Amino acid sequence: MACFGAVQVRYRYRVYPSPGQRQALARVFGCARVVYNDCLRLREECYAAGEKISDSQVQRRVITLAKATPDREWLAEAPSVALVQACNDARRAYRNWFDYCSGKRKGRRLGHPRPRRKHGRQSIRLTRNGFCLRGDRLYVAKVGDIKVRWSRPLPSVPSSVTVTCEPDGRYYASFVVKRKAAPLPACVREAGIDLGLDRLAVTSDGEIITNPRFLRAKERKLARAQRALSRKAKGSANRAKARRWVAVLHRKVRETRLDHAHKIALRLVRDNQAVYAEDLAVSGLARTRLAKSVHDAGWAQLLRLLAEKAEHYGRTFHRIGRFVPTSQVCSACGTKDGPKPLSVRIWACAACGAVHDRDVNAARNILAAGRAERLNACGGGVRPPRAVAVAGEAGTHRSTA
Ligand SMILES: [Zn+2]
Repeated sequence: MACFGAVQVRYRYRVYPSPGQRQALARVFGCARVVYNDCLRLREECYAAGEKISDSQVQRRVITLAKATPDREWLAEAPSVALVQACNDARRAYRNWFDYCSGKRKGRRLGHPRPRRKHGRQSIRLTRNGFCLRGDRLYVAKVGDIKVRWSRPLPSVPSSVTVTCEPDGRYYASFVVKRKAAPLPACVREAGIDLGLDRLAVTSDGEIITNPRFLRAKERKLARAQRALSRKAKGSANRAKARRWVAVLHRKVRETRLDHAHKIALRLVRDNQAVYAEDLAVSGLARTRLAKSVHDAGWAQLLRLLAEKAEHYGRTFHRIGRFVPTSQVCSACGTKDGPKPLSVRIWACAACGAVHDRDVNAARNILAAGRAERLNACGGGVRPPRAVAVAGEAGTHRSTA
């Protein structure tokens, strides 16, 4: 089932461009941003006029022909590969949105692609002919050799790089590399995990994984900084300062959460042959008022890391694909006990008398549902799937919204 080939991953490093290189980068960021926005505008206009326009025509008009006009001639200051990639990014964003609107693309609600803005995160993407590694520096066409802090060695020659400038003023280079899988010896343990709000996750073994305390403290600080920013006059120097401070705190919150998620995901994948989780798209909780975007982001991140690490270490990660009212069913005997408000943490099964922690019970049901789905997918019917209640019925998650 698992194949241990090379997997494409991203390796990110902090880079330190010199003042001159920063200016050059700012110009390239600007050119890429303009090309991206021109692409969106052109596609929009053509669509409104009922014209069909090919991808190569778009690229020709916003890059090649635009360079010949006086108000876009400065596009020549950027490496053309960065402009072509901006064009490709715009095409992908537009196509995704189009597919979503026509119903071809399933999943998360997707908005119209937004134009890139001058403030906020800036980035360029370069393929092989736009960059190379020279000594211990990163050479970017029309920018120069940029100093890199190599926090770990690259596993292979990178096929592309994204250079970004974050709103807090830090620069990063993110390389796309191939990394060989490093499968771990097989083990027998398997786990189901239930994602939660006050607890990040609970496993079927009864382990409770909380968000670290200091994350809360940082989030409170961030909220305070955001309030301060909203009070500053538009366009003032103090507003710029406050904006930078918010960006710094954002980064700290993000890094803390990511670091924690990496550690949790690694431990779960290392200790278990298979990990099962509820798919966020089917999780009722994600649709309630309780779900703040922060939690959403935290869950999605954990699930992404679990998938990546499982692939790298030759383990299985599987999301159960349908809505199962995991917190209503007794994991010991399979009886459906009915909906329970979120305030009920512990309950006893009326049929068999088993006492359950709400989240651990849910995690056990997820484990059972995941095993059943995998067995069905493999075509083997050796173990009968554990009885989990009828799909499609409203769970407690939804009714407490
Ligand atoms: Zn029971």
